[in-house]
Amino acid sequence: MSAGTISVPDYRGRFGAYGGRYVPETLVAPLEELEFAYLEASNDESFRKELDDLLHNFAGRPTPLQFAARLTEHLGGAQIYLKREDLLHTGAHKINNCIGQGLLAVRMKKHRVVAETGAGQHGVATATVAARLQLACTIYMGTEDMERQRLNVFRMRLLGAEVIGVEAGSRTLKDAINEAMRDWVTNVRTTHYLLGSVLGPHPYPQMVRNFHKIIGEEAREQILRAAGRLPDHLFACVGGGSNAIGLFHAFLGDSAAKMVGVEAGGRGKGLGEHAARLSDSAGFSGARPGVLQGTHTYVLQNSDGQISTTHSISAGLDYPAIGPEHAWLADTRRAEYTAVVDEEAISAAKLLARTEGIIPALESAHAIAELVKRAPKMKRDEIVIVNLSGRGDKDMETLSRYV
Ligand SMILES: *Cc1c(COP(=O)(O)O)cnc(C)c1O
Repeated sequence: MSAGTISVPDYRGRFGAYGGRYVPETLVAPLEELEFAYLEASNDESFRKELDDLLHNFAGRPTPLQFAARLTEHLGGAQIYLKREDLLHTGAHKINNCIGQGLLAVRMKKHRVVAETGAGQHGVATATVAARLQLACTIYMGTEDMERQRLNVFRMRLLGAEVIGVEAGSRTLKDAINEAMRDWVTNVRTTHYLLGSVLGPHPYPQMVRNFHKIIGEEAREQILRAAGRLPDHLFACVGGGSNAIGLFHAFLGDSAAKMVGVEAGGRGKGLGEHAARLSDSAGFSGARPGVLQGTHTYVLQNSDGQISTTHSISAGLDYPAIGPEHAWLADTRRAEYTAVVDEEAISAAKLLARTEGIIPALESAHAIAELVKRAPKMKRDEIVIVNLSGRGDKDMETLSRYV
């Protein structure tokens, strides 16, 4: 454990007022089983070894911490370092968590995993790990999303996963979540629910964070080696919040390291136009504490408590709730949250492509966009680490419509 790491959540899975386990009776026992298995696995040397081996040889860890010399020069302020999660197998940080939970499923003697996916990124990472570990895999996806993301549907099927289209409701992520949960409840003896971000009931937010905290642990060592001291600022985009907390966690005890989570400002500040849940100080409206998918956190909702629709150009940030640990970090002001709009993310993607030769995922481009606003005002000797959560290959069609 790194110096000063703060020990949350508590034993009920609470991060201050947030988190917890708001689920029907039928899910209490499976969640307790999962919590116990995870605890046991984290104290087991052989589990740790297997995990390290797959992270290294299958996924490609450690990822580089790259000094972005030309972006630094272009912005004229702080020294900018990029944590290159985009270089991982399947193109994003998501694989860290999928490997961890996949191994846990094997350990619990469950031979099948289910997951839901919006744009297909989590579905592809899950199907990839399921193939590697020889687990049966079922992915639920709204039929609207399947239409928009045909290539990812093909990828999952090529990897041997069964992709089930969900026709209910808006035929997108929210509806796919309901179906995946229903499947899990029905088949819980043989099936593990492989949740894709730091969301859901306890122990998911803590467990998923712990599978991603290697991002910050590596970055902390790497920056000490490269610059001889800790960073002044950390930037990451926040959908559910897994890549952000993955970077932040190892630095929580370093009080001089400021943290900025960047949400999707979409196309405007009104409810339904964005997916910014913790950026009300920046004028984005509609988020209040509430319960969604088994956890108590900030949720975008109308005055009657109906979950709001959201918009973002980047599917990975397009979600009405945020991980409970981020809600807590925002309340305690340990981290700051803000949002950038679609166009700013696109310009930032273009800038990174042209200065550094890296096309980022549109999600990651949100973090770059906020950095573009702030870096010029920083001192030359300040140090910034930005988490580059994924690569932009998946976004070429979207980008080509704008650029
Ligand atoms: C899924 C995804 C995200 C958003 O998820 P978090 O849990 O907030 O990290 C961000 N970047 C990329 C590249 C993604 O695929």
